[in-house]
Amino acid sequence: MMHNTAFEALGLDFAYLVFEVDQTTLKDAIQGMKALKVKGFNVSMPNKTAVMQYLDEILPAGQLCGAVNTVLNQDGRLIGTNTDGLGFMLACEAQGMHIKGKKITVLGAGGAATAVCMQAGLDGVSEISIFQGADAFWDKALQNAEKLNTQTSCKAKVFHLEDTEALRREINDSVMLVNATGCGFCQPIGPCLIPDKSYLRPDLMVFDVIYSPAETQLLAWAKEVGCTCSNGLEMMFHQGAAAFKWWMGKEMPLDIVRKVFKELYG
Ligand code: NAD
Repeated sequence: MMHNTAFEALGLDFAYLVFEVDQTTLKDAIQGMKALKVKGFNVSMPNKTAVMQYLDEILPAGQLCGAVNTVLNQDGRLIGTNTDGLGFMLACEAQGMHIKGKKITVLGAGGAATAVCMQAGLDGVSEISIFQGADAFWDKALQNAEKLNTQTSCKAKVFHLEDTEALRREINDSVMLVNATGCGFCQPIGPCLIPDKSYLRPDLMVFDVIYSPAETQLLAWAKEVGCTCSNGLEMMFHQGAAAFKWWMGKEMPLDIVRKVFKELYG
C-alpha cells in the first residue's frame, strides 16, 4: 500500500507486489528477481538472514544486524541493507526526538531491537543500555553489545530485565527509553516490561516500536507522566520511505501515504 500509493502519487509506472517465498525456493526467487530486472525488493522474516548469502554486497547496517530487509538491483548486482533501524532513527528526527550523541536504554535483542541498536550505533548515539529477559535472546543481546563496542563508536552494556534497580538507574541516565520487544503487541491492555510509571520522568523520551495497539501500556504511562512519545507507526513509514528513496532516488510522499493508510486501517 505504501509503495503503490507513492508510485501513483508521483506518476511512476511501477508496481510493488507480494510473493510468498519459503527458504527452499529463496535462491531461485532471487535469481528470478535478477532475471526480471526488478528495481529492488523487500524480504521479511524468516528470509532476512537467509537472503544474505545470495547478495553481491551488504551495506554496514545489514552486516551489523546480520539481517537484510531491503535489496537494490543495481544493473544485476544485488545490494542489501536493513532499513528498520534507519526507520527508527528517521522517525526520531522527524518527531524532534534527538538522540545522537546521547545515551538511550533499549528493551530487547530480537530483530527490531538489533536494527534499532545497530543503526543508533552507526548514527552516533553514544551509549546504549540493553535490557533482555532470560530467554533465547540473551546471547543475542551479548552479541549485539559486542558488535556495538567493537564496530561502532557507541558503548553498550547488557543487563537482565529482571534487575529493576539497574533498569531504574539506566533509564534515569538515558534521554530515551525504547521498547523494542514484542511485549504488548496486539493486546488491548497489554503487559509492560517496566514495573510502573515511577521509572519515567517528564523529560524522558519514550519510543515503543509496537504500532498495534497505537497506545501500549508503556505509552499510556509515558503520556500520563508527560514524556515525548512515539509508537512504531512512524518507524514503519520511515523504513519504507528509506527503501523507496534508495530504489527510486525520490522521497516517498509520506503525507499522502499516511492519509491513505489512515483511510484503510483507521
Ligand atoms: P523477535 O521475536 O525477533 O524479538 C522479540 C524480542 O522481544 C526479544 O528480545 C524477546 O526477548 C522479547 N520479548 C517478547 N515478548 C516478551 C515478553 N513478554 N517479555 C519479555 N520480553 C519479550 O521480534 P521482532 O521482530 O524484534 O519484533 C518485536 C516487535 O517489534 C513486534 O511487536 C513487531 O511488530 C515490532 N516491529 C516493529 C517495526 C516497526 O517498523 N515499527 C519493525 C519490526 C518489528
